[in-house]
Amino acid sequence: MTTIVIATNNQNKVREFKSLFDNPNIEFKTLKEIGYNKEIIEDGNTFSENALIKAKTVSKELNVIAISDDSGLSCEALNGAPGIYSARYAGPQHNDDDNNALLIKNLSDKENKNAKYVCAICLYHPNDEYKIIVGECHGTIIDTPKGKNGFGYDPYFYIDAFGKTFAEVPLEQKNTISHRAKALRGLKEVINEDFSFKR
Ligand code: IMP
Repeated sequence: MTTIVIATNNQNKVREFKSLFDNPNIEFKTLKEIGYNKEIIEDGNTFSENALIKAKTVSKELNVIAISDDSGLSCEALNGAPGIYSARYAGPQHNDDDNNALLIKNLSDKENKNAKYVCAICLYHPNDEYKIIVGECHGTIIDTPKGKNGFGYDPYFYIDAFGKTFAEVPLEQKNTISHRAKALRGLKEVINEDFSFKR
């Protein structure tokens, strides 16, 4: 049995990670479950850099295989914003509602509502081998929220193929196309193909 530590305290992400992974040879532990509560400063400039910082820190400090993800929303008309600042777009103390309100305000005079979710996952082995996989999911931002599922920007993230927002569909349906699901599927392949990560 291989233990992989998920370097996040975001329970939504943990749920999505675990729901996509059914490998009986891998057990996932969260930072909380292993009692790690140090703050990790994410000062990278890209999703990939931030994912690497988090996974490397946990892997090296605890001598474990670690995975982390960094994700967010990127809008064409806003030059990629909120980007790596997605979680704190409206400021450090703000929540999803404030972030969403600011996003809608900033897009209100823009014609182009195209957006994408991006998820970079880093798998880091304490021997310093690592992989980064990036998944993307394209949609458009609507100005009236719809649905109660998901989290973050989901009530505003409209998927043409579904005719619905991410917050209107069950997690299983979100997982068929989501940025995190795509990156996780890539991660699964890496874990299955690259035996050095199986030790
Ligand atoms: P992170 O925890 O630094 O990766 O920040 C992720 C932030 O991006 C979240 O707090 C959300 O605002 C946004 N985000 C990332 N993935 C999703 C998603 O699947 N649905 C909704 N919002 C997301």
